[in-house]
Amino acid sequence: MAYVFPAPPQASLAVQGSDARFPVRRIFCVGRNYEAHAREMGNDPDREPPFFFTKPADAACDTPCTIPYPPLTNDLHHEIELVIAIGKGGANIAAADVMNHIWGASVGIDLTRRDLQAEAKATRRPWDWGKAFDLSAPIAPLKPIAGVPSLTTARIWLAVNGEVRQDADIADLIWPVADHIATLSEAVTLAPGDLVMTGTPAGVDALLEGDVVTGGVDGIATLEVTIGSRA
Ligand code: MN
Repeated sequence: MAYVFPAPPQASLAVQGSDARFPVRRIFCVGRNYEAHAREMGNDPDREPPFFFTKPADAACDTPCTIPYPPLTNDLHHEIELVIAIGKGGANIAAADVMNHIWGASVGIDLTRRDLQAEAKATRRPWDWGKAFDLSAPIAPLKPIAGVPSLTTARIWLAVNGEVRQDADIADLIWPVADHIATLSEAVTLAPGDLVMTGTPAGVDALLEGDVVTGGVDGIATLEVTIGSRA
């Protein structure tokens, strides 16, 4: 097999307690998965099935890191999220079987160009330019599932320059991990290396150049991201 130019490097993330890295295949993100966040975005969270959008695999980047303030936006937002790493693929996975497909978990930020997302919503265009830009998924080193105390209850939080802005519990997920991954597997055949960003609680807000963002899911991982100058 010859390529016409060298193949791009495999996107990957660091793993806690290991020098081996997790190869990233795709990044799926759940929309509006905490009631209070759905309300703050002007939506009725009741009885809406989970829906998904994606980011490119190489949007994932290790933390700690500095991410330049991205282009085309004046309203970069943070969304702290529990991240699930898939280790065993499958389609039409039963909710009761989802845990057997999970390799590990972490915490990440679904960085969002909120002004571009709002424009996309208003014009019925895709969300991609609001969500799927370079370095839009900083993620802490992944924790293998054996060391994860719970994927059903844990504090999830985010602070900017030490001031807590998002503070909730993953128990408040409208569609818990087992349910939304089961639903996702009805739409696509999941594969090892897939990541699922599970949605953000209330408190999303703007980030500015120079901000230092910290966040975590208790018992799983913590992260730190600095927002650099505009590239
Ligand atoms: Mn999100």
